[in-house]
Amino acid sequence: MKKRNFLKTLGLGTAALWTAPLLTSCRTESKSFKQWVWTGGVEKTAEDWDKEFEGLKQLGFYGVLCGGGKQVLEKAIPVAKKHGLAIHAWLWTMNRPGDATAQNHPEWYAVSRKGNSSLDVRPYVDYYQWLCPTKQPVQEFVFEGMMEVCDMEGLDGIQLDYVRYCDVILPRGLWSKYDLVQDHEMAEYDFCYCEDCRSAFEAKQGYDPLSLEDPSQDQDWKQFRYDSITHLVNKIAQGVHERGKQISASVFATPDLARKMVRQDWDHWDLDFVFPMVYYQFYDEPIDFMKRATEEGLEALNGKIPLYTAFYLADKTPKQLQEARRLVAQTQAAGMAYYDYELLSEDMREILLD
Ligand SMILES: [Zn+2]
Repeated sequence: MKKRNFLKTLGLGTAALWTAPLLTSCRTESKSFKQWVWTGGVEKTAEDWDKEFEGLKQLGFYGVLCGGGKQVLEKAIPVAKKHGLAIHAWLWTMNRPGDATAQNHPEWYAVSRKGNSSLDVRPYVDYYQWLCPTKQPVQEFVFEGMMEVCDMEGLDGIQLDYVRYCDVILPRGLWSKYDLVQDHEMAEYDFCYCEDCRSAFEAKQGYDPLSLEDPSQDQDWKQFRYDSITHLVNKIAQGVHERGKQISASVFATPDLARKMVRQDWDHWDLDFVFPMVYYQFYDEPIDFMKRATEEGLEALNGKIPLYTAFYLADKTPKQLQEARRLVAQTQAAGMAYYDYELLSEDMREILLD
C-alpha cells in the first residue's frame, strides 16, 4: 500500500494509465482504516472549509469532528457533504466554562468533597467549570442543547467531549505541571458531593458518602458516579438514535484508567463508536501505549462498537505519527482520529498518504 509512491509517479507524469487501477485498489484498501480529524473555527468562510475538506478527502479522511456550535456547522455541513466526508458535531458535555445559561443556575455546578462549587473554585485550570450529572435540570439542559444541534440537516451525528467528572487523578505525565503527587484521591478534586448526589446515594445505599472515613475506598459510591454519567450518555444516545443519527465520545485512554481518573465507564455506554484519547505522553508512557491501550479498549468492548484511537499531534514528529499509525494498524481498531487539524503539518500529511 504505497499510495505516496504512486502519487509521486503520477507527479512525474509517467505511466498514468497503468497506475490508475492500482490507485483504485489502494483507496479501497484504505477505506477499511478510517481516519477522522477534529476541526473548527468561527472565522472560517465557506471557501476556507471547501479548501480544507477537499484536502482532507484527498488525504483519504473519512470524517470530521467539527466544533464551534451551530454557527460553524451551518457553513461546514454542506461543504463536508459536497466532498463526501462524514461530519459530526464536537460538543462539550459536563465541563461548561463561562456558559451563560448554566451560570444563571449556580446550583447546577458540581461540588467537591472539600465543599467548593466548581462554579467558584476551578480545579487545575481556569476553563474547568463542571456541572453535576445527577441533577434533573442539568440533564435536561444538556440533552436539549445537544438535540438542537443533532437536528441540523445533513449532520451525521454528535461526538461528546468532557463527558465525565473532573479528573480526580490526573494522568501521571501531568502531575509535575501542577506540582502534585496524585497517588490518592484528593478532596479538592473529588466530585460530586452536592446535596442531590449525596441524598440520591443515601436513599439507595443507606448512608451519606461524606460520613465515610475515606469515601475513595467505597466501591458503591464510585459506581453511583459512573452510573450518573452513563445514565446521561444513554439518555442522549436515545435521543440521537430516535433522530436517525449517530453518537460517539472522546474518552480517556483505557476503560480502567477512565474509571479511575474521571469516572467514565465508557465501555458500558450506548455509543455507535468511541475515540479513546491515547495521548501517551500525558500518561508518562512510551509510544507503544498506542497499541496496548487500543487493545485494552477493544477487549473491553468485545466487538460491540468500532473503536478509533485518537492521537494528539502537538509536539510530535512525522516519524512519531508514522509509528503510532503502524502500532494501531496492528490491532483491530477501525481507524484513528487526530487532534487537531491545525496541527497537521505538511510533513505529517505526507505520512498520511502512505
Ligand atoms: Zn451532584
